[in-house]
Amino acid sequence: MNIIVTKFGGSSLADATQFKKVKNILEENHNRKYIIPSAPGKRFSKDFKITDLLYLCHAHVKSSIPLDDVFKLIAERYKGIADELNLSIDLEYHLNIIKENIENGASMDYAASRGEYLNGLILANYLNIDFIDAKDVIKFDNHGSLNSEKTYSLLKDKLSTCKRAVIPGFYGSNENGDIVTFSRGGSDVTGALVAASLNVDLYENWTDVSGFLMADPRIVESPKKIKTITYGELRELSYMGASVLHEDAVFPVRNAGIPINIRNTNNPEDEGTLIVNKKDIHTNTITGIAGKQNFTVISIEKAMMNSELGFCRKVLTILEQHGISFENMPSGIDTVCVVISDANLKNKTNIVVDEIKRSCNPDSIVVYPNMALIATVGSGMAYTKGVASKIFTALSDADINIRMIDQGSSEINILVGIENEDFEKGINAIYKAFNN
Ligand code: ASP
Repeated sequence: MNIIVTKFGGSSLADATQFKKVKNILEENHNRKYIIPSAPGKRFSKDFKITDLLYLCHAHVKSSIPLDDVFKLIAERYKGIADELNLSIDLEYHLNIIKENIENGASMDYAASRGEYLNGLILANYLNIDFIDAKDVIKFDNHGSLNSEKTYSLLKDKLSTCKRAVIPGFYGSNENGDIVTFSRGGSDVTGALVAASLNVDLYENWTDVSGFLMADPRIVESPKKIKTITYGELRELSYMGASVLHEDAVFPVRNAGIPINIRNTNNPEDEGTLIVNKKDIHTNTITGIAGKQNFTVISIEKAMMNSELGFCRKVLTILEQHGISFENMPSGIDTVCVVISDANLKNKTNIVVDEIKRSCNPDSIVVYPNMALIATVGSGMAYTKGVASKIFTALSDADINIRMIDQGSSEINILVGIENEDFEKGINAIYKAFNN
């Protein structure tokens, strides 16, 4: 029998109307057995996220400021949901304990986790199914790292006794029983762990978008939706800024070969995007296009560089000594480029260039500031002729100068470096070339 683990994000559970949509989705398919809720998110763009308010409560107590006004906003949101859904849960009781604990100096992780905890209690009550406190099944060591072995074994034991259950996302507990949270957006990780522990057939991640788009809709008008994407492609695109999922959510399910389906709670008819290990590579050459601005490229040239032992190591050691990580390092026989984001470079260009000159003695070193990178990603490109030429022709037809080209060794990504000011024009040109 198919088992589906279903995670709902904050906007999917932001108020009673959203809870009703969630119930309909769950009733539509009874294979949706294990449900992971986030804390209530924003109902409209200027609204508060409950998790942010809980962090604020904790900060108030730290600064000896009364938390009553902020906590009232939290309590009202939950009471609004419970009242409108006519729930029997004694919310007042839970809210009082949480408020008192935070006032008495409970940890930041404890405070933040209560958003998911309360939403989980409410959802379990509304659906009339079991509630499993994540602190009993998601385990961390005392340094804050996830203990996946213990987590999987506890989840397996516990879930084998429940037909259906709600397990709140975002937190667990350490060896002392203290609450520990994942980083922000971490309910995705909880869902992935639950899915992997039972080796289920599908992990559904319900949010407020219908999956991934081929390009950023703020740059390309109405880009097409990606129906299927591989984990490898997703990694390349998320690295370049296209993110819907928490990074750590991918690995547990990817390793177990479980597909993730990104779905839209506000448009449940839409099939969303399916993330899989492998797809039919002949169906589509390009899966998506993403990019980032504000990079500096340091281009170094030296005759016979290829035979000089330790040349790149010397360059990289200089970066390391300044705490600068680099993005890419395309190289030729006598040239090497280091691509560094301006945020990482921290205005240290001149110092770094001087040190490279001193320690590597290059024939020339040229700095190209204000660069943007565009990644065109598709696992079919390794088997299809003409993908690179399509990208380069599109950019040249749009009168865009390409400063750098790098095709990752995985052959699912062609990266080009262009001027910052050509960024949006470049993405549109590539998108059009593949969608005509
Ligand atoms: N509520 C947490 C956050 O806002 C975790 C999550 O939503 O996944 O980051």
